[in-house]
Amino acid sequence: MDHFASVPRMSLGLYPTPLYPLKNISAKYGRNIYIKRDDLCGVALGGNKVRKLEFLLAQAKAEGCDTVFTTGGAQSNHAMLTAACAARLGMKAILLLKKRGVTEHLGNLVLNDIYGAEVRLIDTDSYDDIYAEMERESVRLAAEGHRAFSIPCGGSNAMGTLGYANCVRELAEQVKAKGIFPAHIVSATGSGGTTAGLLLGTRLYLPDTQVTGIGICDDPFAEIVPQLVEDASSILGVSVPAREGDFALRWNIGAGYAIPNPADVPYMEELARTEGMLLDPVYTGKAWSGLLQGLEQGWFGSEGDIIFVHTGGAAALFAIDLPRN
Ligand SMILES: *Cc1c(COP(=O)(O)O)cnc(C)c1O
Repeated sequence: MDHFASVPRMSLGLYPTPLYPLKNISAKYGRNIYIKRDDLCGVALGGNKVRKLEFLLAQAKAEGCDTVFTTGGAQSNHAMLTAACAARLGMKAILLLKKRGVTEHLGNLVLNDIYGAEVRLIDTDSYDDIYAEMERESVRLAAEGHRAFSIPCGGSNAMGTLGYANCVRELAEQVKAKGIFPAHIVSATGSGGTTAGLLLGTRLYLPDTQVTGIGICDDPFAEIVPQLVEDASSILGVSVPAREGDFALRWNIGAGYAIPNPADVPYMEELARTEGMLLDPVYTGKAWSGLLQGLEQGWFGSEGDIIFVHTGGAAALFAIDLPRN
């Protein structure tokens, strides 16, 4: 049964993304670790937000919108990918970014300009202030005959969550074809939609697989993730009740969100130097380092294949230097 048959989706990425074993890392750690390369999804520098935007922007188009608002930190990968996807669909992107983190013209702020997005840095610590501003701007644009669609931080609402449920549908076919038996799927948790989508997707397509989210900021994901799963499952017309204990929530925040952690750097370098692959210091570096440190601490037991979802983020390497001990 195709749960997604009646949900509008825009094709934006080049899917399926590759899934393959990290042979050198697996040999070194004595465990089969696979990588799902969602950094190679064919839009900008890739990343997990594209799967969410396939659903979110389909909804925006269906509602006749010509403008998209979204938000995030100054270096938001989500905002940059929204700019890229909106440009492709002929929509105007207006990015109301928190004036926090690296606000110099580096990294994703350079890419936003290339994609022709309008960027406004807003000096606030609260997304509520930004959502209120989106609301006011939407009203103003409506008076000029435009129609704006607002996407929350990280694209993590019910519709965006479908992106990673759909990813697991794709993954389930890949693991079947390759004879992989994933005991665990691991990824970074930043606003919760990816972990929630993976949880919903595994319930539907890979029921023997446990989802682990590695929190890289201190939002209350134990509540956020189950709520997103319930809201997203109702769009699919299925009932997937979710509780806190249905997924594993681990943490590797370090000194704080978007503050690179010296302890992660050796793991990031090891992956680069054994597998040729780049991670970023804000999300995937923390998640990957958390995975390997957790493996050594027994988080994942002693058997069963592990899949790490590479969620993108490379632009941060051009905005934030890696700290060394
Ligand atoms: C946004 C992001 C994440 C976190 O995904 P959420 O769905 O927000 O939890 C992970 N990695 C990268 C590179 C991201 O940009």
